[in-house]
Amino acid sequence: MKKFLIIDADGILTDGKFLYDTHGKKYKNFGVNDSLALQLFHEEMIVKRQLFDSISVMTGDRGTGLDITVTRLNNMRVEMNVYNFFNDEKPTAIDRFFVYDQGGTEENPNMVYFIGDDIFDAIYQDNENVMFLTTVNAPAIVKEAADIVSKYEGGSGGLADLVLRIMEMHGLDILRIFNDRVERSKEKLPTALNDRFLGTTPHVK
Ligand SMILES: [Mg+2]
Repeated sequence: MKKFLIIDADGILTDGKFLYDTHGKKYKNFGVNDSLALQLFHEEMIVKRQLFDSISVMTGDRGTGLDITVTRLNNMRVEMNVYNFFNDEKPTAIDRFFVYDQGGTEENPNMVYFIGDDIFDAIYQDNENVMFLTTVNAPAIVKEAADIVSKYEGGSGGLADLVLRIMEMHGLDILRIFNDRVERSKEKLPTALNDRFLGTTPHVK
């Protein structure tokens, strides 16, 4: 049995709002802590412990909106597979390509941890092969269907919170992992403060 982490883009990686001008969709609002949480997940859960197979992002967006999401995903510097599925296609795609494919069978299905906030995601209520996690700004019907609801919103720490909680669920001590990282960073830290000095306002170089 394999385990997959699958993440919905709009509303989870973002605050769920699209900013438009008269030419169409122009901006999305992403969260600040999510890339670090996903980097940790990739390093600890996939590379080091092989508890999970991969991280995937599923988005139903097209055109400029999709370009914005892909730009953000590239900036996050985490290895993630990106798939284009409409909202009503996602539940079937998750069953077909993740639970019952890639080594999963009827007798021994794979397990998916899906973080989403779309109305169609309420369908995961009774799927024992999908642990469904959502954020507090999801619609009520979606939150009722979820196994776990973060008290933080998408784009405001909700994704990072849920990713770290999945790691804790698998027995990882998050604070200890942070501590080890701080220890490792000491080797790279310069010995003189001036090596990181950017200047003094109002004339920062
Ligand atoms: Mg969404």
